[in-house]
This record gives sequence, C-alpha cells and structure tokens, in this order.
Amino acid sequence: MHPKWSKGIHLNLDNKKIVFDPNSTKTVGDVTAISHAHSDHVSGVTNRSLKITTSSTKKIFETRSRRTLRNVKTLKYGVKQEIGDNITISLHDSGHVLGSSQFKITCDGKTLVYTGDINCVDTFTLKAAEQLESDILIIESTYGAPGWIFPPRSQTVAEILHWIVEQIKTGNLPVFKVYSLGKAQEIIGILNNFTHVPIVVDDVTFKVNEVHNENGFNLTYLQLDSEEGREILHSGECVCVVSSVRKIPSYDKRIRVASATGWALHFSKGVSFCLSSHADFNQLLNYVLESGAKKVYTVYGHDKQFANVLKKKYKIAAAPLRFISQRDLKEFPQVS
Ligand SMILES: [Zn+2]
Repeated sequence: MHPKWSKGIHLNLDNKKIVFDPNSTKTVGDVTAISHAHSDHVSGVTNRSLKITTSSTKKIFETRSRRTLRNVKTLKYGVKQEIGDNITISLHDSGHVLGSSQFKITCDGKTLVYTGDINCVDTFTLKAAEQLESDILIIESTYGAPGWIFPPRSQTVAEILHWIVEQIKTGNLPVFKVYSLGKAQEIIGILNNFTHVPIVVDDVTFKVNEVHNENGFNLTYLQLDSEEGREILHSGECVCVVSSVRKIPSYDKRIRVASATGWALHFSKGVSFCLSSHADFNQLLNYVLESGAKKVYTVYGHDKQFANVLKKKYKIAAAPLRFISQRDLKEFPQVS
C-alpha cells in the first residue's frame, strides 16, 4: 500500500485504483472517495468513476453546485463495503462538517486510514472524530506545526457573544462572513443556544442549513431574501451570517464584519475569532500516537513541519505525501 500525490491522493491496490479527494477532473480512479463537500475537496469530482461518500456529503454537494451526482454509492459510518478482491472500504466520522468522513481501507490484512479534514473535539454542532487504528495513516496537517494550539472553545464562544452584544448595543449590525458549510452552522448553533437574537442568512447558507435540519439539527434562522428576513434586518437587532458581505442589501446601519477561523490564532485582518473545524497540533499528534500507525503520510497545510516533528521527536516513519523523497521511502518500514 503505497499512496502517492498527484492532484489528489492515489492508492493502487492490485487491479483497483482508489483516488481520495481529486482536485482535477482528469484525476480518475476505479473508485473516487469523497471525504466531504468543501470545494477544495470536490473540485475534481466527475460522473465518470464510481464515487463513495456519505448521503449528507452527496446532498450538500448537489445543493451547493446545483449538479446531480451520478454513479454514487453512499455509505453510513462504520459499514464495510467490498470494492475488490479482499479490499474493503468503510467510512467513519471525521468531526469536521456534516457528512465528513475518514476512510478505512483493508487489503490482505493491512489497514490504511485517510482522515480527510479532521477535528478531534466536540463542537457546538458536531461530535469529535472517531479515533481509528491503522498500519498506514494519511493525516491532514493544516495546523500541524507546534505553535498552533487553539484556546478552549468556551473562551472563543464567550468572546463572540461579547462582541455581538457590543455591536448591537452601539447600533451596529454584526455580520459573520464565514464558510456556508460548517462554520455558519456552528455560529448559528452558538447564537441559538445562548441568545434570542434573530439570525438572517444568505441563500447558500440557507440551503446548507436546511440539509442540516433534515439531518436532525435544530437551527433557527431567516432567509435574507425573504419578507420576514428583510423586516428583521431593517428593525436592527439581528446578526447576519453570510458567505459574502455583498449579499447584504444597502443598509442604514454601520456593518461590522467578523470572521471565524483557526488562522485567527496568529493572523488576523480585522475582527477574527479563533474557531476552527480542524484539529490543532495537539489533537493531530494525539490522533497519530493513538492510531498505532507504523507509517504516516501528512497532507495539506503544515505537512512538512508535522512530518518532521513525528520523525525527529517521536521516531515515527513519516513524510509529507506531496514532497516524498526516495530517502523517505528507504527509511520507511515495510508494511505493505
Ligand atoms: Zn474542509
């Protein structure tokens, strides 16, 4: 089992080629595994090969892209599906957004896990990722450098609530400019839970929220492009949650815009709260140590730094998948 990077993660097993999260439509395998519906993970999805994902990811992809995804096998978390001789795949919660999955592949008694984007703590809307064991692990490393350790979520939530109260008290309109999938629902969940302030959302956030509520969430919000939404907006006391500030119609109050992202820990332009849907450095490290993996490949973000820490400090055979060298391969134990 030797994965490789080429506009997506490729895994060739006997006569079966699996591609995880392709980012080019020219990257086609026998099976395409889609971890979640964020655009940087679905940009290479076509109707050509068989796709495996969750029903929520399929629904959110179709809602946001206005495309029908054909040739798809949807699986529930934990269900094993045979995809070749002695090859099985199963999906497991990655805690990142609704429907997001880790993939566990077993072949000839060996196990490989690809985490996709992963978050290992409970958020206001989602449960933490399932901890999986594996022989070979491909782990995302967005915040995989030692300086990236997030404050407790409760502290960030208190800061968000304080900021909103301040804005409304001074006659401003607080606006959250956030991803329509994941971050928007967590902000709405926090506000629904701790306040009675009405929330108005743009079209795309509204549609993605609806998929969440169909899946057992209980989010309360109004559509910006509706009579009631416009009325609330002009009455003054509300919060806007939008993917783009341009979606807000001309308005007679001062608009104050905030973002919510893990990058706010060290970089921020304007008002930005440290609320992430990704694991921080400590969570990633803990996941690797608990996985028991003998080989670790890092992908995305701080991939080189994370592989270096694993190698130098923890003596784990690790390499960044995008930059893997012959030397890295020689140092790797023979698992496959
Ligand atoms: Zn993502």
